Amino acid sequence: MIPAASPALQLAPREPSPAEAVRPPADWKREWREAVRDPRELLAMLDLGHLAGGLSAAAAAAFPLRVPRAFVARMRPGDPADPLLRQVLPVLDEDRVVPGFGLDAVGDGAATTSPGVIRKYRGRALLVATGSCAINCRYCFRRHFPYAEQAAAANHWRDAVAAIAADATIEEVILSGGDPLSLATPKLAELTAALAGIPHLRRLRIHTRLPIVLPARVDRDLLAWLRGQPWPVTVVVHANHANEFDPAVDAALTALRDAGATLLNQAVLLRGVNDSVEALAALCERGFAAGVLPYYLHQLDRVAGAAHFEVPDERARALHAGLAARLSGYLVPRLVREVAGDPGKRPL
Ligand SMILES: *Cc1c(COP(=O)(O)O)cnc(C)c1O
Ligand code: SF4
Repeated sequence: MIPAASPALQLAPREPSPAEAVRPPADWKREWREAVRDPRELLAMLDLGHLAGGLSAAAAAAFPLRVPRAFVARMRPGDPADPLLRQVLPVLDEDRVVPGFGLDAVGDGAATTSPGVIRKYRGRALLVATGSCAINCRYCFRRHFPYAEQAAAANHWRDAVAAIAADATIEEVILSGGDPLSLATPKLAELTAALAGIPHLRRLRIHTRLPIVLPARVDRDLLAWLRGQPWPVTVVVHANHANEFDPAVDAALTALRDAGATLLNQAVLLRGVNDSVEALAALCERGFAAGVLPYYLHQLDRVAGAAHFEVPDERARALHAGLAARLSGYLVPRLVREVAGDPGKRPL
């Protein structure tokens, strides 16, 4: 299944890291299945049962709660303002209709050129490898965009790969979703084997939250797959708060680095989660300690149901300036917003 690389691009094989040696494959699927799906159960686990009155049944029906137990374990029991809990709990605030917060906030509907391929920026093609995620983040545009039907996997990525092969300006494929690492490793190998036949590709990127929310996903098979890729691989993870890191996450990230991946983090600026200089600085420093450089700090996509997470632009700029005044330059992420029709993420 592992594609044969052209000799010029062949990377030297690396030794397995200690972290991967201890991680048997397939654990993660069980952890995936056993994710918490009942908001009341989640509250009870955290000694917060008295908050049940603040849950939104409508929001939970439209976009269900889903959170791996490994992530729940990093929430602070008894703290209704826990920054991890806030990212996943369906609350009454989501039911408010707020002008400007719609269903296709980032213009993906218009930019989808062939099933599963989104081409917005020069040189890059984003491939919607699957509609699945291990966690449902309340602020995510995925709560409305019908990625499930768009997923290129439907015909084994044939159309998506053909579209990328037909456009020689594409040098980088970004596996996205959903979460591409929610695909089983043989599926990923099938996809990259098809991409390996395209001569104009130079880089592979993977946008994933799984190493953070379900670090068991980084198992031996995944690392072997990664190590076998014929291109330099960048893994862009997604953590919004320093508390999302723990020793299991550290081990997963170390193993990804040992397999040759460059690690970056993108975060979303979220009111009540990370909207302070202290929280953002702690996130950037904690990520770096785990081998991850900050990449983007995104202004929220204006999706219906997420208005209560929004931080005004002026405050976002002030927070970013505070970060820049405090941290080493390479620990400061770029503050950006996605604007439909722009040639790249727009700096604020
Ligand atoms: C964000 C995004 C990219 C990647 O942009 P970078 O600035 O290179 O990280 C590529 N394609 C689409 C459609 C995107 O939304
Ligand atoms: S992991 Fe990413 S794509 Fe999946 S729900 Fe969360 S923010 Fe959205």
